[in-house]
Parts: sequence; structure tokens; C-alpha cells
Amino acid sequence: MMATAGGFPRAAFGRNGRLFVMSAPSGAGKTTLRQAVLARLPDLGYSISFTTRPPRAGERNGHDYVFIAAEEFEAGIREERWAEWARVHGHYYGTSAQALEEARAAGRDVLLDIDVQGAQQICRRFPESVTIFIMPPSLEVLEQRLRTRGTDRPEAIEVRLRNARREMDQRHGYRHIIVNDDLDTAIDTLMTILNSNRSAREN
Ligand code: 5GP
Repeated sequence: MMATAGGFPRAAFGRNGRLFVMSAPSGAGKTTLRQAVLARLPDLGYSISFTTRPPRAGERNGHDYVFIAAEEFEAGIREERWAEWARVHGHYYGTSAQALEEARAAGRDVLLDIDVQGAQQICRRFPESVTIFIMPPSLEVLEQRLRTRGTDRPEAIEVRLRNARREMDQRHGYRHIIVNDDLDTAIDTLMTILNSNRSAREN
């Protein structure tokens, strides 16, 4: 499933679209950052993931995620429908292989917001992917953000904090690391990374 500003014709010179993969522990401000850059770059596609996690308040099916049943997800694993997939916080998450291949073939650049396990799979499959890890300023700030967000129960927050520590240990496998201590600065840094890697292809 892919969100873009309309259909794009196949790119000049038949160039494949570029994949930008961002990961972060939950609470690092990744969703805000992602929305900010997508609003500024209307021709950048966003890969809408499939998940078996129940929707949170305000989340829309087909917009934030495609919400599906575990049986359907598992059928997708058997039929190799996922470009990558992982179990995160007890639920399945995956990226549609078909949607990704179609976007790339159309020369469309795509942003993926996936966990570290998924990022590793995408990099194996598409080694030229540009990877970006978003760090919270500290674990204390992360915990505070998760608690004030109020979308998760205390036990779920503990799981997310444990996973956050594990994910942050993986940050050096990423090409770029952004510390999100000031939102505007983090947006600028992310925009610079996206723009420089996109325009580099025009030369
Ligand atoms: P949340 O449930 O908070 O929306 O997402 C939990 C985690 O799952 C986040 O780290 C998010 O990046 C990751 N995630 C979302 N979609 C995908 C996906 O398609 N594949 C993988 N591997 N991780 C995903």
C-alpha cells in the first residue's frame, strides 16, 4: 500500500526509486518527523505498513496502517507477500513487496518507517537503501514521552522501553543517526539527508 501525491509516470532514464528507511524506538518522535517531511516533499511516497496490532484512537485503516488479522498476515508470509516483516511488541508488521516494487519501478522515492529487524531485511534486499535512525535525547525523555502520550498501558510501556534499549544498540548499523532533542533541527537534518540523496541521483 503506497501513499503518494497522485500517480507518477515511470521516471526519466528508467531510474529506480530510492528507498529511505527510518527506524526509532517508539516515543523518539519519529511519527512527527515523518509527517513533517512528507508534508514538505509531496512527491516522496510513504509505504503504509500492514499490521495485526489493533488501531489506536484516531488511526485510520489504509492511512496509518492497513489493519489485518493474524491469519491473513501469516498467509502473506507463506505466499512471500512481504518485502520484510517482523514481530514487534507482540504484533506482526510488514511491508507489501508488490507495492514497494511498483513504486521503485515507477521511479518513485519511498519512505519506510519500520523497526530494526525490518530495516535489516530491506537492506539485504535493496542494499542501496538510505537508512536513518532517530534517537530520543535520552531514555528518561523517552519514558516521559511514552507516559504522557497515554496511548499504551504501563505494561506495554515497559515492553516498549526494553525494546527501545535493544533497538538503540543497533543504531550504528544505520547510515545516518539523528538525535531528536529539538524538533525543528531534527526536521532540518532529515530534510537535508533526503534532499541530498535524492538530488544526487539527478547528476
Ligand atoms: P507502532 O505500533 O508504535 O505504530 O509501531 C511499532 C514499531 O513497529 C515501530 O518501531 C515501527 O517503526 C514498526 N513498524 C511499523 N511498520 C512496520 C513494518 O512494516 N515492518 C516492520 N518491520 N516494522 C514496522
